[in-house]
This record gives sequence, C-alpha cells and structure tokens, in this order.
Amino acid sequence: MKTIRRNPTNNTFKVPSWTGLFLLLGLLGTGACAPLTVNEEKQMGRGVAQDVMEEMTLVEDPLVVAYVRDIGFKIVKAAGPQPFDYKFYVVENDVINAFALPAGWIFVHTETILKARNVSELSGVIGHEVGHVALRHIANNYRRQQSVGIAHQVGVLAAEVLVGGIGADAADIGGGLAGTAYLNTFSREAEEEADIFAVLTLPKAGYDPEGLVTFFEVMQAESSGSYTPEFLRSHPTSDERIKTTQRLVNRLPSRSGLLKSDGDKLIQVQDRIRKLEKRNK
Ligand SMILES: [Zn+2]
Repeated sequence: MKTIRRNPTNNTFKVPSWTGLFLLLGLLGTGACAPLTVNEEKQMGRGVAQDVMEEMTLVEDPLVVAYVRDIGFKIVKAAGPQPFDYKFYVVENDVINAFALPAGWIFVHTETILKARNVSELSGVIGHEVGHVALRHIANNYRRQQSVGIAHQVGVLAAEVLVGGIGADAADIGGGLAGTAYLNTFSREAEEEADIFAVLTLPKAGYDPEGLVTFFEVMQAESSGSYTPEFLRSHPTSDERIKTTQRLVNRLPSRSGLLKSDGDKLIQVQDRIRKLEKRNK
C-alpha cells in the first residue's frame, strides 16, 4: 500500500510536542479517581488535538472537509444537547481509521472515505465515534485506565514511541498521540454502546444505519494474513459484533426514507481525495 508522509525527504523521527501527553500525565498526578469532568475533558481535548494537528496532515480541501462536517454535525444534532462543541477533521492517511479525541475532536482518515461504498457506511463510522464522545467513554476510560496504572503504561508507550519501537505505525501516529491511542482503547462494552448509539442516532440524522454493519464487512475483507486495518485493531470486529449490530438494525421500526446513498456526492469527494493524494505524493 502506498504511504503518505508529511516529510518525504526527511525520515528522521520527529520528536513531538508532547503537550497532550504531559497534560495527561499532569492530570494523572492529581490522584483523583473520578471520571474526567467536562471541563477537564475539554482541556485535555485541546492539548491532544494540537498534537494531532501538528503531527498529521489534515485535508484542507473545502469540498472534502464540508462533506464530512455536514455528516458529523447532522449526527451531533440528532444526538441532542451535548456538553462539547464537536469538531470534524479529515486526516490524509491511507489506513482505514477514524478516532475521537477527548471533548469531541473527531478525525476521519481519507482511506475510510475512499473505502466507504456509500454515505451510510461513512456515517456509520462517524456515528460510532460521536458515540464514544457523547457517552463519555473517554472520561470513563480515563478512570478505568487509571485504576490499572495508566501512568506507568503511558510512560511505557512514550518510551516505545521515542525509540520508534511501538510498531509500524509509530512514526505515523506520533508520540503525543500515544496517550490518545491509549485513551481510544475502549472496552468491548464501550464498543457495543457506541454501535448501539450509532444505530439509534443515525436514523434521526436521516442516515440508514445498516452502513455500520456493511462497513465492518469491508474492514474484515481488508484484513488479510497478518494485516489488520488499524480501525479493526482498536475496534475488534468479531462476527458476533456484526450479527449483534445487524439484529439491532433489523429491530428498528422502519428504515424507509433513510439515506443509504447520496448519489454522486460521495464519489465526487472520493475523486477529489485521489487527486489530492496524487499531488502530495
Ligand atoms: Zn470504537
């Protein structure tokens, strides 16, 4: 697979700003065992988002960004009043992935948009990520991880990233994101809850939620041999999970009138992404 790099001529490992990580460790140092408050989560989100934006290449093309934001904000509106101002960004990256940072900073990789066969699939992924934020999984994760020694483990992650030993994706993930990746490792229950959130919220936003199920299948098909798409690694998709989500979709009273495809719109966005990637190679 092709790899998009920010600095194609410079392969030296970039030491990240670590703002988010230090903020995270600073919060850990408070010793509080409660979940993050809304304000703490907002503060953490700002710090980590700053790292992400410094370390990853964001797509600035207005057509692409507006397309993802439109879907994202429709879902947020459908979810009802929220304590956070959600923000949606597109990251130029050829790995299928999407992730949520604390307080509603949501990032979608270009490869996810390219692999989505219709808007229902893309909205399924975004709906799932909004679910993690809306259900306060990151705040609760913080408490859960703390009880198993997150400070130690984040420290280990940081050390591994510094020596570039965390795996093939380390250079792409960037050190400041190690803590984020950690906060994005959700329990199976949290994954199920985010799936349920997506299935129940997407219809209110006008989208057919079955795309979440069919996109799981796309991701499974992408897995071959030892290769597993990143989204699958952080979002293990068992046959059981697919079946459970499909059952939930089948139980919805009616899906008539819900958007599965938006015609040429997604195709235009995908064309634009391919052109951008070609130009940036
Ligand atoms: Zn998830």
